[in-house]
Amino acid sequence: MPTYPAPAVTFVRGEGAVLWDDRGRRYLDFLAGVGVTSLGHANPAVAAAVAEQAATLVHVSNLFATTVGPEVAATLDRLIGGPAGKVFFANSGAEANECALKLARKWGGRGRHVVVSAYGSFHGRTLATLHATGQPQKHEAFQPLPEGFRHVAWSDLAALEAAMRPDVAAVILECVQGEGGVRVPDDGYLPGVRRLCDERGVLLILDEVQTGLGRTGRWFAFQHAGIEPDVVTVAKALGNGVPIGACWARDDVADAFAPGDHATTFGGQPLAASAARAVLAEMERLDVPSLAAAAGERLAKGLESLGAVASVRGRGLLLAAELTAPGTAGDAAARALEAGLVVNAVTDSALRLEPSLLVTDDEIDEAVAVLGEVLG
Ligand code: PLP
Repeated sequence: MPTYPAPAVTFVRGEGAVLWDDRGRRYLDFLAGVGVTSLGHANPAVAAAVAEQAATLVHVSNLFATTVGPEVAATLDRLIGGPAGKVFFANSGAEANECALKLARKWGGRGRHVVVSAYGSFHGRTLATLHATGQPQKHEAFQPLPEGFRHVAWSDLAALEAAMRPDVAAVILECVQGEGGVRVPDDGYLPGVRRLCDERGVLLILDEVQTGLGRTGRWFAFQHAGIEPDVVTVAKALGNGVPIGACWARDDVADAFAPGDHATTFGGQPLAASAARAVLAEMERLDVPSLAAAAGERLAKGLESLGAVASVRGRGLLLAAELTAPGTAGDAAARALEAGLVVNAVTDSALRLEPSLLVTDDEIDEAVAVLGEVLG
């Protein structure tokens, strides 16, 4: 269906941070499938795990126990830290958030079902996650959307406080707004949100679908702010391209769900879970948060050195380069693609760069050189 513009390139193969198209041309991939292939394309450890699981057991449904998903849940619980929690597995970021929204409603009870989110946020494209997404222009064609969502200005504690009426069950936020333009909140915002949620007895759901699993230089972006969330959602990098999402909640919150409240045919099945198990093991073995922090610093410095870049924002390897010429990011991304570099125009004046966390210094320098030529 015509939900995306006609693509300019057909990719047929990838290895690490490199892609090849159907004409044999090589590209450096600084988008990583929109923050998904954090361990690079065709990662050997993930490929081997998926191949072995495909030949062992792919799917039996959640009416039966399997062994791989619980291991992944335990690892996520340990990496999130803080009090122990439980995981529901889904198949995408939107589905992980849908689970979090339903959990918030069940936890809040009747009359306390509103979820507050920020303008500029992105939480998915299902009807509920679309309404949680604070981009009214995306809502218009699909009204009426499920009710129970309230939007406030991003990184504005007073606005959030004013929205926290007694009907509020939860606040859902990204720690760095990804699709909204790679917007880092002011220092003190997230700790302030945590304080407000505690005062009002409201759940804090952190959408780490794009920021999670090392990308910002910590396992989870909330760890930069030194806070503990009640609910965390992840997807994207969890399967390195194999579709899997997860909604984690602290034990007492997760226990608001009873059997029958939520379900999925595929979520957590052994094939996708085997990819996630291999991803998390590789990420821990390689300490990807440290790699992302170091590589992010090199990439940011390189971008800042370009005359056509006004400023660089973001954390770790989730970066945006604001261009000096307004309205030129789409054209710049198209020209970069022609020059063999995959990047994305995250706004009409900013390019987003989020390569594999295993990107090499040489690949970073090459990407900066290509961008320098294209922008020049
Ligand atoms: N949440 C965030 C922060 C995202 O960036 C995205 C996708 O870009 C989603 C949710 C939706 O994830 P999916 O496209 O897997 O449904």
